[in-house]
Amino acid sequence: MNEIYDVLVLGAGPAGLTAALYTARANLRTLLLERLGPGGQMATTASIENYPGFAEPIDGVELALRMLRQAEGFGVEVIYDDVQRVHLSAPVKEVFGLSERYIARTIIVATGASPRKLLAPGEDRFVGQGVSYCATCDGPLYVNKDVLVVGGGDTAVEEANFLSRFAARVTIVHRRDKFRAQSVLVKRVEDNPKIRIMYNTTVKSIIGESKVAGVVLSSTVTGEDFLLPVEGVFVLIGQVPSTTFLQGVLPVDDRGYVYGADDLSTSLPGVFVAGDIRHKTLRQVATAVGDGALAAHAADQYLEGLKT
Ligand code: NAP
Repeated sequence: MNEIYDVLVLGAGPAGLTAALYTARANLRTLLLERLGPGGQMATTASIENYPGFAEPIDGVELALRMLRQAEGFGVEVIYDDVQRVHLSAPVKEVFGLSERYIARTIIVATGASPRKLLAPGEDRFVGQGVSYCATCDGPLYVNKDVLVVGGGDTAVEEANFLSRFAARVTIVHRRDKFRAQSVLVKRVEDNPKIRIMYNTTVKSIIGESKVAGVVLSSTVTGEDFLLPVEGVFVLIGQVPSTTFLQGVLPVDDRGYVYGADDLSTSLPGVFVAGDIRHKTLRQVATAVGDGALAAHAADQYLEGLKT
């Protein structure tokens, strides 16, 4: 593609969708590149209950589609492509997808994060055959079955509750003796008769023939291993930032999240960062949306500066 966009937004999660909405509404020629579908991780959440304005919980896919419609309404162009590499240091920035090259004067990187893997034997082998990273997507497949949730953060605890709608029994294993999750969410699993919590427990391996039949768990207190028969294993242990194409391009923290200044500019002029990919303390839809607005504003100001 030879057309130079004012703004090229990478990633159509809540941060990218908001950034694109703001820049298009500011009359900037905006292209939004997305690898899969709109919404990012938000689209894997069945019930969002802490996004302001929705007193009744809203489905993540529904919210994503609303954001997309709104952005497209202001003229955002959306192309589905997978970013492979970028050249961001020159005034005109280049982004290479699988088959196309895209060029723009500013880039807003909002590619988010993807699920962290457990790296336990059997995990890769049984992906889609009992191992899942998305309770919203796969939970309904486990009606009246026993499932395991691994993790101790908000996602694990919240999704364990969601899975209890379908499963006969949900066991949560957490490697420490205390959840990291918010106490309001922890209380819900503690009060849920279909959920059993096993602290100080790790997953040693996932076993089965053609699909998951059980897990070998290990107590971090006694060192003892034991078998738990389950048909589903939901690995919900956090995320890793989607920064492969940014290796060596932008400074990142020790976990790979990209540093942004207060206005979400980066060390490269004309390049901004927003959403879960950014080094920050709270990753929520609300904070992603705020990031998107802020990065869009900074990109607009940068483009204004180019005119003088
Ligand atoms: P997280 O907060 O990073 O928690 C990850 C959990 O997985 C931790 O309990 C961690 O254990 C455990 N873990 C990490 N690596 C592991 C490994 N290799 N083996 C076993 N356990 C491992 O991730 P998250 O729960 O996905 O949440 C991500 C962000 O989204 C957070 O900021 C969270 O607040 C937010 N979120 C909010 C809501 C909500 O407000 N309703 C819902 C979902 C997510 P340790 O505790 O020992 O480190």
